[in-house]
Amino acid sequence: MHAVILAGGKGTRLAEVTTDIPKPLVPVLGRPVLEYQVENLRRSGITEMTLVVGYLGQQIKNHFGDGEEFGVRIGYFTEDRPLGTAGCLAWLRDWLPDRFVTLYGDLMMDLSFARLLAFHDRHPGRCTPAVHPNNHPYDSDLLVLDRSGAVRQIVRKSEPRDRPYGNCVNAGICVLDRATLDTLRPGVVHDLERDVIEPAVQRGEAYAYRTTEYVKDMGTPQRYAQVIRHVADGLVAARNLTRWQKAIFLDRDGTLNRYVGLLSRPEQLYIPDEVYAALAAINESSFLAIVVSNQPVVARNLCTLDELDEINRRLETMLGERHVYIDDLLCCLHHPDQGYPEENPDYKMACDCRKPRTALVDRAVEAYHIDPGASYFVGDTTTDIQTGRNAGLRTVLLKTGLAGRDGKYDATADLCADNLFDAVTAILAETGRRPAPAHV
Ligand SMILES: [Zn+2]
Repeated sequence: MHAVILAGGKGTRLAEVTTDIPKPLVPVLGRPVLEYQVENLRRSGITEMTLVVGYLGQQIKNHFGDGEEFGVRIGYFTEDRPLGTAGCLAWLRDWLPDRFVTLYGDLMMDLSFARLLAFHDRHPGRCTPAVHPNNHPYDSDLLVLDRSGAVRQIVRKSEPRDRPYGNCVNAGICVLDRATLDTLRPGVVHDLERDVIEPAVQRGEAYAYRTTEYVKDMGTPQRYAQVIRHVADGLVAARNLTRWQKAIFLDRDGTLNRYVGLLSRPEQLYIPDEVYAALAAINESSFLAIVVSNQPVVARNLCTLDELDEINRRLETMLGERHVYIDDLLCCLHHPDQGYPEENPDYKMACDCRKPRTALVDRAVEAYHIDPGASYFVGDTTTDIQTGRNAGLRTVLLKTGLAGRDGKYDATADLCADNLFDAVTAILAETGRRPAPAHV
């Protein structure tokens, strides 16, 4: 496996740090950010790499040499003039292997590349961008995915956004088949997203790999300071999916957004201030935030599947506007009771995913390598508490929403809290006192 690291960038917004060093050499706790990447690739078994350098590139060559000191083999491609993020790939195409990975050299990351490559191999696409939510989606290009994970559209940050597009951001890491480079011309300025990924999207050849692992740009002084803090706290390494993850599973209606009965329109979403604060606390912790929701609104024909997706994208957009995010959101669309005239028969069925059944929790546990014994379910109904118990999670009942008054299950929660912020505070206090899971 081969990695092409795009290390030619100039740190325009980090001017005070990068006046005389290239952006990939920006120090984080005494080591260049690019060194973390090289180390991450080596641990993942990727030891062949090409560093594309330009501006102040000699400093990068001096630091890494042929890579032997770092346990890898490094070759260089030097651009005399900037050719965009993909101009180099036109030159490199003839000797790159059939598939390879590209990454931006100024990102702090810790990824299980084996999982990313396995995803690429089991999907029919030729282009697999890694995607994730981030805490500034309004300032990022967004990918719109369909339910199969295929990328349908890329919405640029410069384009006006007339509707909510969720929070699915290109993380800056992409697996490519060499054939995706066929239209590039040597010596011409090319952009990786515009000239490689977007054409693959249009051909139906791009599938997004959604990950909860740590990948962050350091494009502003604030983000740079945050990255340093996260590396120091061990958060960056802890999120690598070869390690066990901890999650706080969250119900949606009555837990995140104010309970209004069956919610069927985006404008019914209202998120209380303490929920934003709670998610900020989760995002800064080693817990993932994963929403698991029963949404029988489609089965009952109160809205269409597209309208439900729109509601969920609006929810993610509202959170993003306040710099917080959820790592994933999974919905059961089914409803078991048949015989109503208005129902949508496609979704009127018994299933394994409607809470308190655990198929959606189980799916997240598998996808994100979650240790259920170190994780929680937080919700406002006895159904949520029963779900948590069925899945082997600790449980927290909230006094918001239905406050447990639904009375469907005789399930006692491990903890009770006035609202989501108090629940997260209690969880963090409780886990602070407990030793980390032994099987890391
Ligand atoms: Zn279901």
